[in-house]
Amino acid sequence: MTAIDATEGVATRLAEVRRAIADAAARAGRTDPVELVAVTKTFTAEHIRPALVAGQRIVGENRVQEAKGKWPALREEFDGIELHLLGPLQSNKAKDAVTLFDMIQSVDREKIATAIASAADSVGRMPRCLVQVNIGREPQKAGVMPDEAPAFVARCRVLGLPIDGLMTIPPVDEAAGPHFEALARIARDCGGLKTSMGMSGDYVEAIAHGAHWVRVGSAIFGSRPPIA
Ligand SMILES: *Cc1c(COP(=O)(O)O)cnc(C)c1O
Repeated sequence: MTAIDATEGVATRLAEVRRAIADAAARAGRTDPVELVAVTKTFTAEHIRPALVAGQRIVGENRVQEAKGKWPALREEFDGIELHLLGPLQSNKAKDAVTLFDMIQSVDREKIATAIASAADSVGRMPRCLVQVNIGREPQKAGVMPDEAPAFVARCRVLGLPIDGLMTIPPVDEAAGPHFEALARIARDCGGLKTSMGMSGDYVEAIAHGAHWVRVGSAIFGSRPPIA
């Protein structure tokens, strides 16, 4: 595929996703905003640029290293980029993460919350944060267990992390709706937190369950090469 083939259609698909989001929000009677996080992991600056030209500003990456290689230059080119970290964070990358990202959606354990707090202290910059919840209680998946979420949110706040909401990735082989509903309930129990839920296959349903952020990659940028 040539570079032109690869980027062709990004602006069109972005417009379609935005329309689908607006329609879903209207059907659900939502009066609060729904924010689109365009997930750019594995895609090059050339591939991402049409979305930025079309006005997309909230973007998400999974890996600190990859984001560090791409986004500083794109930020020189485009004002107002809001970069979210969606993938698991390791303590030794905490300084890079608080320097680079405006939001960390994947705070999932005490050790990483502590690392973010001390990195933010030394760098002098604290990103907004979400707590990741393992809503399907899957053994291999990141996130705090659903019943532990309220105490962990409180603990993060004691450490100084500004927690805006909860993020989840439901089990791939189950209906997402009940999991979205469960996360929304926990978010209410935590005193009215926002939720980040819904990806290319199910963002419309997530909006019906109150998602504040939807994280959409392949529906905008096309399919990704399989990654390990
Ligand atoms: C890759 C990824 C997405 C986007 O997935 P698509 O199915 O391509 O929309 C959303 N959230 C997280 C955490 C991801 O890793």
